[in-house]
Amino acid sequence: MTDKARTVVFHETGGPEILRLEDRTLGEPGAGEIRIRQKACGLNFIDTYQRSGLYPMDLPHALGMEAAGVVEAVGPGVDHLKPGDRAAYAATPPGAYAEARVMPAAQVCPLPEGIGFDTGAAMMLKGLTVEYLFHRTTPISKGDTVLFHAAAGGVGLIACQWARSEGITLIGTAGTDEKCQLALDHGATHCINYRTEDFAARVRELTDGRGVDVVMDSVGKDTFEGSLDCLKPLGMMISFGNASGPVPPVNLGLLAQKGSLKVTRPTLFTHIADHDTCQSMAMTLFDKVKTGAVEIRIDQRFPLEQVAEAHRTLEARKTTGCTILTL
Ligand code: NDP
Repeated sequence: MTDKARTVVFHETGGPEILRLEDRTLGEPGAGEIRIRQKACGLNFIDTYQRSGLYPMDLPHALGMEAAGVVEAVGPGVDHLKPGDRAAYAATPPGAYAEARVMPAAQVCPLPEGIGFDTGAAMMLKGLTVEYLFHRTTPISKGDTVLFHAAAGGVGLIACQWARSEGITLIGTAGTDEKCQLALDHGATHCINYRTEDFAARVRELTDGRGVDVVMDSVGKDTFEGSLDCLKPLGMMISFGNASGPVPPVNLGLLAQKGSLKVTRPTLFTHIADHDTCQSMAMTLFDKVKTGAVEIRIDQRFPLEQVAEAHRTLEARKTTGCTILTL
């Protein structure tokens, strides 16, 4: 067994071309750690924020926050995993784009039989995000209406299916008519092409002027203000990403003018910081997948060495569903 693993590392921030494949030496896992031999890694938009410097990190640093594989060794104090277990995770610190790694065990979950490694690698970060958006951020009940931007993306297609499985009306947005069709096929009740239509006006039409209960907005700069216009009085704006750039400072007075709106800016990693909560969220997600309520679509696969191309494709809005790096 080799104790070196090819790992994607960046030494300065910038475009996809800065990503390098290096051999990293693996040690033995320390207290609370495991060594995992990975079968596939998930690509997430957050990886591009870290690479570009939008989310600053100490450099050089490895990249990637989601993968699946087989546990090779466990350190002292790890009792939920053992060597030979299949496992998957969304976890900090970044370093998931690698053949193998030593990492903290708390956020690594046993992967149930019946869920393959590619699916495990694609679903953890995006699926746990959908879990907290629908179950932990604000009360959302059957019959409520949610506006969800970028509904044909990785998080988006999981959200469409999740909403359908819980009787929630999801109005999606997406950047092409084909992407809108994909969101509709996966459970969105309506989908608006926000490159050709004024989405706020259309949402008002679709809701007979009432507005939606909740907006889930990961597009950020380009959609934030329009999203506020889609909410009913006392509605909740969940701003959880910046695919088009960070949201500029918000004038709180606007929230009063538009009807006592609420705004939150959550991250997955706050929600899964506690081991037991993380494992319980994963159980809910695994159930959704095992029962077929949620299908994890992997529409793009790139070998690890083509990671730069994978980033270019994601940032160019050319992907749908999930993207994985194969090993
Ligand atoms: P996606 O597969 O959804 O890709 C991002 C999508 O955003 C694109 O496909 C595109 O869809 C849309 N988009 C809109 N404007 C732009 C733009 N200017 N440049 C690029 N893309 C744009 O990515 P993920 O599923 O990995 O993540 C979705 C979002 O959720 C990201 O913003 C991510 O940061 C966020 N996120 C936040 C988490 C949190 O806890 N806070 C956790 C996980 C994800 P279209 O062409 O249809 O517009």
